Amino acid sequence: MTSTPSQPQSDAKIWLLFRGNELLVTSEDLTFPCYNHYDVLGVTALEHHRVGVHQEVEAFVVRLTEDAVAPEGYHFQSLRSLLTCINAEQFSLAATASQILGWAKSHRFCSQCGTPTEPHPRGERAMICPVCAYHQYPRIHPCVIVAITKDDTILLARSQRYSIPMYSLLAGFVEVGETLEHAVAREVAEESGVQVKNLRYFGSQSWPFPNNLMLAFQAEWAGGEIVIQEEEILDAQFFRYDNLPLIPPEGSIAYHLIHAAVNELTAKYAP
Ligand SMILES: [Zn+2]
Repeated sequence: MTSTPSQPQSDAKIWLLFRGNELLVTSEDLTFPCYNHYDVLGVTALEHHRVGVHQEVEAFVVRLTEDAVAPEGYHFQSLRSLLTCINAEQFSLAATASQILGWAKSHRFCSQCGTPTEPHPRGERAMICPVCAYHQYPRIHPCVIVAITKDDTILLARSQRYSIPMYSLLAGFVEVGETLEHAVAREVAEESGVQVKNLRYFGSQSWPFPNNLMLAFQAEWAGGEIVIQEEEILDAQFFRYDNLPLIPPEGSIAYHLIHAAVNELTAKYAP
């Protein structure tokens, strides 16, 4: 255990310290360390990168050694588990940091010629090849997620990936050359066998597991019986708005999209 100065220091920075997929947070209220330098925490860093300015304080992400030990008053917690216990702004900062660290790790070499890359000389978010000048920027992967309603019900599916009996919305990656509209229609048809109409944009969420941008839509059932894609889906059903199964946790866009759809159905169908 290492004793640490009491916060805050002048010129302090926010330090997002990752040990693998786990982030160092204060045990008392799950906030991030804020010091002039992370070395006061007695941890060893492999690399660090500037994330940006968060509420007027500069934030940096740091990759720690795998054997890093949390100092007194802190513990390591997985980014995914923090989703439900810190506010959206804090989670967004941690999510951004996690994606920058992942990008730095996977772009050490030029993907065109294999030369070790170097950071952009003026701090742009790019790793540059000193031989062929190829610029490698962080990549995000667009995914569509859709709430489909049919009369007073909403289509929810249990993924093969869920270890618990949780039902969520149909979702999938946008493929090369597709529009978002086409991606929704294709994913829904592939996974559930139904057709949709009246697509409406709902909102988006950066989803750092690992680099997704979730684009959320509402839609209405247009035809077709449920035929699940068994490799991906364990079960899919139209659930009545007032009798839902276990759904994803608050903080995910799936949760907010399901609630928006339920609110609309409640306004229309509740006695
Ligand atoms: Zn190159």
